[in-house]
Amino acid sequence: MMELLAEEVVSCPYCGEAIEVLIDHQEAGHQYIEDCQVCCKPIIFRLALDAAGNISVSVHDENEAY
Ligand SMILES: [Zn+2]
Repeated sequence: MMELLAEEVVSCPYCGEAIEVLIDHQEAGHQYIEDCQVCCKPIIFRLALDAAGNISVSVHDENEAY
């Protein structure tokens, strides 16, 4: 059975602090913004599925060009 929730550890793009996030497979292809708990800056989380169907999360700062 496929697990719908996965825990990932990412680094804040501003301060580098390790952040644990819970990601939902149903959110694949979406992005959301959450403030860093350490430096309070808005981190953009992007959720993507790879070819094997595994979800991955990447983090971006708000000034990054698309
Ligand atoms: Zn931070």
